[in-house]
Amino acid sequence: MPVPLYIMKVGGSVCTKKAENKFEANRELIAKVASEIKRAQANKEFQLILVHGAGPFGHTNVKNYGINDGIKTEQHVEGFIKTHLAMQELNSVFLQEFENAGLKAIAIDPTACIVQNNKKISKFETLPLELLLKMNSKIISIMYGDMVVDLKIGGSVVSGDAIISYLAHRLKASKILLGTDVAGVFEADPKKFPNAKRIEIIDKKNFNQIIKNVTGSNAIDVTGGMKEKLLKLRQQLSGCNALIFDMRIAENTIKALVGSVEGTKILL
Ligand code: ADP
Repeated sequence: MPVPLYIMKVGGSVCTKKAENKFEANRELIAKVASEIKRAQANKEFQLILVHGAGPFGHTNVKNYGINDGIKTEQHVEGFIKTHLAMQELNSVFLQEFENAGLKAIAIDPTACIVQNNKKISKFETLPLELLLKMNSKIISIMYGDMVVDLKIGGSVVSGDAIISYLAHRLKASKILLGTDVAGVFEADPKKFPNAKRIEIIDKKNFNQIIKNVTGSNAIDVTGGMKEKLLKLRQQLSGCNALIFDMRIAENTIKALVGSVEGTKILL
């Protein structure tokens, strides 16, 4: 039987101090995620591609340099490069912590393999990812939200959510796990309405109703927060199952990988 492929996102709200808008990696949580993945690999055979979000490393730079609508000026070019470098800096914390945990992780630079057309992925060279999966089932390729070239507007943001949704469809992942700082999708933003109820399953039937009460992120977020996450999944998912869960909680990552965890199931 082929080894199942899982694609997992570590949200910017998990891997950075996004809520406090601090330009700082959340090293402790990244290390926790790494050690839970290591234990999961010892428990079950699966292949993993990991994608992480940006938090202030991406969103604040993009906002400050005004580069969410294309690269036209010298200052935009500077912002494009600064944002990319900041994302590599955040990514390096993942590589260090994954190595410390004894994992075999390698970064795949989104700028080198993705081309967008008016903010949408139009070309994505996935062969290196596919060959790394073939090389060894324990290799974890790590990608991240980033600035990439854009056929129409010079350069644009590709979000971690867009990469996840695209890869899940293209590589026929059997599980898509989205770790964030809330325990799923709720009837209203649980940060503002703590009594809001969690939605257990989002499917084709209830999607349009639910999306009305889903908003963006409370922090600075140029890629649209929870709402955009769901819209991206709907565009690309076609048949794969996804789960949105709270990744900050101890044991949730290992539970999500080897069994099940509390959260919202997405079946679109
Ligand atoms: P990440 O950075 O982890 O990818 P996002 O900031 O993009 O996460 O999305 C998660 C945020 O979405 C939560 O922190 C929450 O405040 C916000 N949100 C808005 N509406 C909802 C909702 N209906 N259910 C859950 N979260 C919501």
